[in-house]
Parts: sequence; C-alpha cells; structure tokens
Amino acid sequence: MLARLQSAFQRQQQFTADASHELRTPVAVLLAQSECALFGGDSLDEHRQALVACQRAGKRMQSLIEGLLTLARCDAGNVLSERREVDLAEVVKSSVRMLAPTAEEKNISVTSDLQPAQVMGDANRLSQVVVNLVQHAIIYNKPGGQVRVKLHSADQNVSLAITDTGIGIAADHLPHIYDRFYRVDPSRSEQGAASGLGLAITQEIIHAHGGHIEVLSQPGVGSTFAVHLPAMPESPAPRNHTDHATKGASSDNPDSS
Ligand code: ADP
Repeated sequence: MLARLQSAFQRQQQFTADASHELRTPVAVLLAQSECALFGGDSLDEHRQALVACQRAGKRMQSLIEGLLTLARCDAGNVLSERREVDLAEVVKSSVRMLAPTAEEKNISVTSDLQPAQVMGDANRLSQVVVNLVQHAIIYNKPGGQVRVKLHSADQNVSLAITDTGIGIAADHLPHIYDRFYRVDPSRSEQGAASGLGLAITQEIIHAHGGHIEVLSQPGVGSTFAVHLPAMPESPAPRNHTDHATKGASSDNPDSS
C-alpha cells in the first residue's frame, strides 16, 4: 500500500515537472521574441518574423494547456460530457474529411472501409480519438504513403483499425507510447509538431467508453492502431418499417483524399 502511494506520488511529481518543462520553452520564445520586436530591429520584416514566432509559441501553449485540461478531466472521471447513441461511421467519415487537407499536403492517400456501427458515448470525444489516430497515421507516414481506416462491427463489439505505411515504432518504445509526454523522437517537439499527450488522451477517452486500444507496428513498414468499443445493443426491429433492410448490412464506403 505504502509502495503504491509512493509510486502515485512520484508519478504526480514527474507529471508536474514535465508539464512545467513543456510550458517553459514556448514562454521563453514568447519573451525573447517580444523583446526583440520592442527593442531590436526596426524593419517591418523583423517585426513580422517576431510576431510569427510569438504566434507559434502561443499556439503551442494553447495546445498544451488544452491537453492538460483534458487529462485533468480524465483524472477526475468527467472527460465525457454526454452519453448518447453515436453513429461511429459518421464520426469517422467527418474526421477523415477534416484531415483531407493535411493528407493532401503530405501526398498521403486515405481510404476508408466503414460498416455501420453504433456506440454509446460522446461524439466529440470519439471524434478526437479518430482525428488523433488518423493525424498520426498521416504525420508519421512517408511521403506518398497510405492510410487505411476500417470500421467493423460484430458480436456486440466495434473495431476501428487505422493502418499506415509510415515509419513504425520500435518494440522498446511501444510500452511507453501512451505515457504522458512520451515521444519516440523528442526533437520533433522543438518543431512544435508534437506535445506527447495525444496518445495518453486517446487512451483515456477510449477507456472512458469501456473500450481499449492496441497497436501493432514494424519499424520502416508501418503501424496499425486498433480501437475496440462495446457496440450499442440492437434495438428491436420496428413493425411495418421497411427501411430496416439497410440497418446492420455490411457496406463499403470508400472515402479517398
Ligand atoms: P505526439 O504528440 O508526440 O504525437 P503522442 O502521445 O500522440 O505524442 O504519441 C507518442 C509517440 O508515439 C509519438 O511521439 C510518435 O513517436 C509515436 N507514434 C504515434 N503514432 C504513430 C504512428 N502512427 N506511427 C509512428 N509513430 C507513432
């Protein structure tokens, strides 16, 4: 009991130290650049560059603070603001559509194969999960690579698999990728690209929906992240309702960008 308390306390201390460290860098950039704009060069171009750097640092802080707030909600057990029937295929479709410009920019093709799937939960949070995973599949891909999104429902279980042809993750990193602030390549954070909170939040949201996430990865070949969620129990077929023929039927909805 004492050992468990000690370990929880150490984790909390580490988390606070990591969060402070992560915020210190953009604050330092913000102060240095604003000082430079106030007391440094006079040219419009120099001022503009300083403002761009300030804006980038501000965005980084905003994303970190939002991530920290979401994790605080997870820890307090109230990350889901609602629990209602969610059409997961629709959530996946709109999340993939939202990321089409990012995929296009990196010349990545995204294809979807979506079966109808209803789950109980918070549509916004589920969308956050899909966006995180598909975004990673695009960002950690190779130029000209592919992402496949497959949603499938069977035996009261819904599975969402996101497969990429990207850089993959080495076996020794896999046990840590859901840890808060963990990054396989910390140098990416300097470019403002990664907070190291994405998968921690993703996993918490999935757990809050009674599901789990697993990953299969091979360095240089790619990764598959699979999310498993409990399906909504089928409601009894309404009488004299002919539309019902389409429900539960397997359907392929290719959605490319
Ligand atoms: P980050 O903000 O750094 O992306 P995450 O918590 O979302 O943080 O992910 C943790 C690490 O897992 C990332 O730094 C990245 O190295 C690795 N990772 C996540 N998804 C993928 C993927 N699809 N392919 C390769 N590496 C990935």
